[in-house]
Amino acid sequence: MTKTPVPKKPESLDQEQFLTILSREDALARFEAALFPREPNGELRKLADVLGSALSEDVVAPIDVPPFDRSNVDGFAVRSADLSAASEAAPARLRLNDEVIACGVAPARPVLSGTATSIATGGPLPRGADAIVMVEHTQPSGSRAIDIRRAASPGQFVSYAGSDIARGEALLRAGTIVGSREIGMLAACGIAEVMVARKPRVAVLSTGDELVQPGNALWPAAIYDTNGAIVTAAINENGGEARFYGAIADDEAALEAAMRKALAESDMLVLSGGTSKGAGDVSHRIIARLGKPGIIAHGVALKPGKPLCLAVCDGKPVVILPGFPTSAMFTFHDMIVPVLRRMAGLPPRSDAKVSARVPVRIASELGRTEFVMVSLVEGADGLIAYPTGKGSGAITSFAQADGFLKIDALADQMPANAEAEVTLFTPHVRVPDLVIVGSHCTGLDLVTAPLARAGLAVRSIAVGSLGGLAAARRGECDLAPIHLFDDKSETYNTPFLSEGLELVPGWRRMQGIVFRKGDARFEGKSAQEAVRSALADPACIMVNRNQGAGTRILIDRLLGEARPDGYWNQPRSHNAVAAAVAQHRADWGMTIAPVAHASDLGFIPLAEEHYDFALVRARKQRAAVQAFLDALSSEEGRAALTKAGFRPA
Ligand code: AMP
Ligand code: MG
Repeated sequence: MTKTPVPKKPESLDQEQFLTILSREDALARFEAALFPREPNGELRKLADVLGSALSEDVVAPIDVPPFDRSNVDGFAVRSADLSAASEAAPARLRLNDEVIACGVAPARPVLSGTATSIATGGPLPRGADAIVMVEHTQPSGSRAIDIRRAASPGQFVSYAGSDIARGEALLRAGTIVGSREIGMLAACGIAEVMVARKPRVAVLSTGDELVQPGNALWPAAIYDTNGAIVTAAINENGGEARFYGAIADDEAALEAAMRKALAESDMLVLSGGTSKGAGDVSHRIIARLGKPGIIAHGVALKPGKPLCLAVCDGKPVVILPGFPTSAMFTFHDMIVPVLRRMAGLPPRSDAKVSARVPVRIASELGRTEFVMVSLVEGADGLIAYPTGKGSGAITSFAQADGFLKIDALADQMPANAEAEVTLFTPHVRVPDLVIVGSHCTGLDLVTAPLARAGLAVRSIAVGSLGGLAAARRGECDLAPIHLFDDKSETYNTPFLSEGLELVPGWRRMQGIVFRKGDARFEGKSAQEAVRSALADPACIMVNRNQGAGTRILIDRLLGEARPDGYWNQPRSHNAVAAAVAQHRADWGMTIAPVAHASDLGFIPLAEEHYDFALVRARKQRAAVQAFLDALSSEEGRAALTKAGFRPA
């Protein structure tokens, strides 16, 4: 794809405001009231095609199972009264009837007093018999009789008709998801077809000029369409049958045509993006023309997810999810899944919940129900939940989180050390074996790779060096990766350790100046010369690093008093610096060698940064910690680090 759109002229700078924001509960109640009750959409399907579907009606057993009284063992059908006096000393002798009742054979002769009939497991009880004697408890007496040395109680080894399933009994309830066990019950009753809920067909549309489908190349300023894939999957996970209609540009006519077609072919339409009330956002205006009653809620007191738009058009739900993928998913799960499941004939979702302590304070906006994603780790006395939020634009926080907690609309914060209820994304918590909290480095994945292969779950939570140290002091992690430079002692990391922590040397990361290859201002120069030549060119723009970053100290030393253009652009990661230079937004900056090389940029080495680990001494003997230390010092680990451009300590 080479499509590079020209920027549109601003048509209007008007921003309609969200005038009526509904509470989450209010919005959901109105949405459901506009959709339910509705005609059930059951369809008759063969047993072979119903696995995973929800029954749309109760199923009543049409027959007794078993259909007749039957023997549970191989033996003889008898009248128990004939054996009431039988004992070791005085065995009872019964004459054998001229019949053998195998499985599937209907008995022809009655069992009269003083007689017995040979019967196999599963065989129907003959007339007159009321008990079975196991073959092991009999002795033949000639070929025509048996001796029995013990009494038999009435009903012994007999399963009565209907004892498993009784005719007329409610076998399965509407809403039950059909699994193999349910299919077994239906088959046992001879049921070949059942009424199941037809999965609602849900059309999925992404909107935005900037969206490119995965598998195609990005053009400058484009991003991949994340919502298309994630919303489609989430619909299928919750009883719908999703159909993806692609990403449509922000063009009112094209979008309206796509929405009309998608809605006509489906039971429900889910869009994402374009729901802010900005000038380019047109989908909500289109919805108003699609059918009655139209928009139910536009603006819901949720965080993330305020711009959510809920509508019903001639009986079909139409939804616009916010554009940011995590906002889209939270609103989808919280507000759309209940409706989708009801349409699909499924019971409400029952997500597993656990209680956990939240070690840090979480500020929250008053008046909005706030969802905060968390990672769970095992603490000394119970689970600890770490907020993993990186803002509503981050998709990785979704993948790394174990679940989320909810902060009530009426609270302006969750204080540190509060006990919170965490709703899990998966049915069970898997508490990680090794918890690493601190500064992230791509080298970390290389070292932990063998742990993952050995089945150990490693959780690494990126909160920066200082955040990691704080977590380590509180004993909430095993290791805190840090790269903190102490100006006074001119050493890394050691001066920052406190009681209970010890330093495990990690690796060195060469820091230096990045520039685009072939740029004569930098090519072939030393770092000092390169900076001098950058400062001499008024057209040259730099990219800085955030205050507190070790790299920033190096930059400031090189610059002295100079504050060149770009100085105030202060991203927080090595990768952002490389991206700015590669994309011509800046001409030089400082990053680490592996990142510069991965972006195919020129690199002038300057100084090595020490990336080490603050180890919580009290947790040193844990097996996973030992495995990490082994991996760190192993030949394999050191070779992998070296290959990626790091220098193992
Ligand atoms: P919008 O509501 O259209 O203004 O979108 C808000 C933000 O979400 C913008 O940064 C969009 O680029 C982003 N966004 C919208 N749709 C998608 C999508 N399908 N996948 C990933 N990001 C999206
Ligand atoms: Mg958009």
